[in-house]
Amino acid sequence: MEHYDIIIIGTGAGGGTMAYALAPTGKRILILERGDYLPRERENWSTEAVFKQKRYQAHETWYYNGEPFRPEIHYWVGGNTKMFGAALFRLREADFGEIHHAGGTSPAWPLGYQHFAPYYTQAEHLYHAHGQRGIDPTEPPTDGPYPFDPLPHEPRVAELKADLERLGYAPFPLPMGIKLGEGTGEAPYLPSTFDGYPDLTESKADAHVIAIKPAVQHDNVTLRTNRMVWELKTSADGRTVTEVHARHNGETEIFRADTVIVAAGAANSAAIFLRSESDKHPNGLGNRSDLVGRNYVCHNNATFLAISKESNDSIFQKTLAITDWYGPSADWEYPMGLIQMLGKVDETLMAFEAPEPLDGMTYAEMAAHSLDFWLQSEDLPDPNNRITVTLPTDKSGGF
Ligand SMILES: Cc1cc2nc3c(=O)[nH]c(=O)nc-3n(C[C@H](O)[C@H](O)[C@H](O)COP(=O)(O)OP(=O)(O)OC[C@H]3O[C@@H](n4cnc5c(N)ncnc54)[C@H](O)[C@@H]3O)c2cc1C
Repeated sequence: MEHYDIIIIGTGAGGGTMAYALAPTGKRILILERGDYLPRERENWSTEAVFKQKRYQAHETWYYNGEPFRPEIHYWVGGNTKMFGAALFRLREADFGEIHHAGGTSPAWPLGYQHFAPYYTQAEHLYHAHGQRGIDPTEPPTDGPYPFDPLPHEPRVAELKADLERLGYAPFPLPMGIKLGEGTGEAPYLPSTFDGYPDLTESKADAHVIAIKPAVQHDNVTLRTNRMVWELKTSADGRTVTEVHARHNGETEIFRADTVIVAAGAANSAAIFLRSESDKHPNGLGNRSDLVGRNYVCHNNATFLAISKESNDSIFQKTLAITDWYGPSADWEYPMGLIQMLGKVDETLMAFEAPEPLDGMTYAEMAAHSLDFWLQSEDLPDPNNRITVTLPTDKSGGF
């Protein structure tokens, strides 16, 4: 049985960044990832393949109130960041306090913004954040500028920004994680297929490119892909994790480490703990409180496509955000959330997203005139919004 100093489960934003930070310590580190490397292929930039055929989405069935669905989750080295939009926001100071929403109260965190601020600074440097301080009205205090200047607005987005400013709002450059070759001699490239697509050029600052690639250059770091961690075993007194059981090609592999870091994402981390039942932990590991997997909180997201009379030729539209309604405002006593530009919607995606074409317009014409927004509002913790795992005899273990 292999023994390591540290095992990290998952290679996404959490596990990947953790591996990057720990690699220089010289500790013997094993990273276990259930996915493989995301293939670099033409389909990376095909809307048909990515959004309609869901080529990179996990082939898994989860259940919501008994109804099966295919979750929008991605099991690759780099986790969901391989597909993410790379908008790199810090939580706001107020987010850590008690917040009254229309649907109820979001309780205060036991930690405050000040505890996270130094790590945000480090992460913004590591993940090549491009942005501009001092415009976003809800921006928390920081100890310096973004490491890189904001991405330039293309003409239609600049026009939208000017229109919003004329109305008294404060749009600001969306903080974006992207490698544009600054200071390296590499040519910059801003792909039109970026937000929600894998990035063939590896310009997107995802956890694979930014964190895992440099981490595995260290001799003391080993990455094993296609290893799905099934459960953690403990010592007889139940107090120490002694073994990590992973599945590989239908076999169980067992690893040991002094420290085990579970960074498999919100749902899958809970699933690992819930599957790790034992006499000492009958409800799953660390779950005496019965809170593991409960209070699952996720942003409530919506796509808003505004079809304007003016055309929108933008290639890289994802450069602007608005927080004027993030907290209580003159328009409503409760927080409404964040608005940011989406990557530019093309004809194929328009046909996929829009329920039906507008009168007299083709989907291509609609896409050529649309301004595309991502609307994000907060979810409230609810103990009944919960992840559970079913353990059939074949141990395929659905959610
Ligand atoms: C399309 C899309 C766009 C997004 N855009 C943004 C954005 O612009 N800005 C932003 O901040 N966030 C964005 N997000 C969200 C962001 O990607 C996630 O919040 C983030 O990746 C979470 O990091 P994580 O490490 O917790 O989990 P993940 O990134 O999900 O990583 C978990 C890793 O663990 C692996 N894993 C899971 N189970 C096991 C197991 N049992 N054994 C071994 N390995 C396992 C997974 O394969 C994965 O690699 C977006 C997400 C999506 C899907």
